[in-house]
Amino acid sequence: MPLDPPTMLTLSIALAAAAALYLAVEWRSIREPSLLFWSAGFATISVGSTLALLRVSGFLLIGIWFANGLLITAHFLFLLGVARFTQTRLSRGWYLIFVVWFGMLLLPDGPQWSKVMLVANSLLVALSTLRASFLLRPHGKSLSVGAVQLRYVLLMHGIFYVAKALTVVIPGTLIDLAAFRGEIIQISLVEGAMAVMLIALSMTGTERYRREQQIARLAARDPLTALYNRRALEMRAPRLLHDASPTRPGALLLIDIDNFKLVNDLYGHTAGDRLLIALSEMIRSALPQDALTARLGGDEFVILLNNASNERVVELGKALRDQFQRSASQAFATPVAVTLSIGATLFEHPPASLTALIEQGDLALYESKRGGRDSLRMNHGLKLPG
Ligand code: GH3
Ligand code: MG
Repeated sequence: MPLDPPTMLTLSIALAAAAALYLAVEWRSIREPSLLFWSAGFATISVGSTLALLRVSGFLLIGIWFANGLLITAHFLFLLGVARFTQTRLSRGWYLIFVVWFGMLLLPDGPQWSKVMLVANSLLVALSTLRASFLLRPHGKSLSVGAVQLRYVLLMHGIFYVAKALTVVIPGTLIDLAAFRGEIIQISLVEGAMAVMLIALSMTGTERYRREQQIARLAARDPLTALYNRRALEMRAPRLLHDASPTRPGALLLIDIDNFKLVNDLYGHTAGDRLLIALSEMIRSALPQDALTARLGGDEFVILLNNASNERVVELGKALRDQFQRSASQAFATPVAVTLSIGATLFEHPPASLTALIEQGDLALYESKRGGRDSLRMNHGLKLPG
């Protein structure tokens, strides 16, 4: 079926304009600058494709050289958006793309003009696109699903443009840019319309997934200490609780600072905050990877361990209490010592719920407070050495 290039171009203009609008609206709610670059890229494609229609009316400079230049610019804007998204700095050398574009004005007329023009345009588009895809490769932290999609869509689009440039060297290939003649030009128009849709969709997906991850991260963390909050602990605890068995008992430690209000009253709320952060860091560095810890609120923290034992709990409690008391007494002189009370409970079978377990820890913690603070109690009420 012969494709009618003006119809295909008109379709691309509409799709690119819709994508530009969609990404701009997305930017209004998410405010990620990369969305603006990408939106501008699609707007540029829309204008470029409109100008490309002029070549059938004989306006060759605007309809071919300038219109293709806008296509190169659009892909460069995509690259700028990806660089922004991945927080990468692009070297200034990339602006040479535009020098080459202007250099193409010097191409002598002749039978090879269309071919050279097509090779140069295709390679410049491929360069920006493949670089953008490369920037989205996973490094360090893994990429979100959306970013992986965008990476592969850009990779395929870039490879298509390299292939398009290579077809020119096949003997007998017909390429007439002025009349839109030649199979590769027609295929390229179809690929263009598809690419507009796929790239725009994966761009919005990229931003949305990252946004969702950020929101999920924020919702799970206590903003002061960056430890998990109670809700996040409730979501993560069941797996650890279910692992409990007589041979691998679990343990819960409930920690509350003694006389914490004194620090707030004598040194101010910010000093109190610093002490909470210091305690959270002590807890974090004392714990094995598979343990869970959270700030339940105020000056109350919780630790969940698997494969625990009485000795391990006592040892951990003592290490934290010693370290905290040393650090608090050095930083803040108070009439009464600022120390830690810990209520602990061991469980050899999965408990009914996290809440039930915390209640047991609470009883032990209350015992410690009632017994004069600065101690660790197990939930059976025995005061342990330390
Ligand atoms: P106790 O020995 O009985 O535990 O008494 P306490 O002085 O430690 O006070 P308590 O545990 O009963 O109450 C915790 C206090 O912690 C109450 C509140 O003023 C303070 N607090 C709660 N959240 C924060 C916070 O985010 N920052 C600071 N600086 N203080 C907080
Ligand atoms: Mg307290």
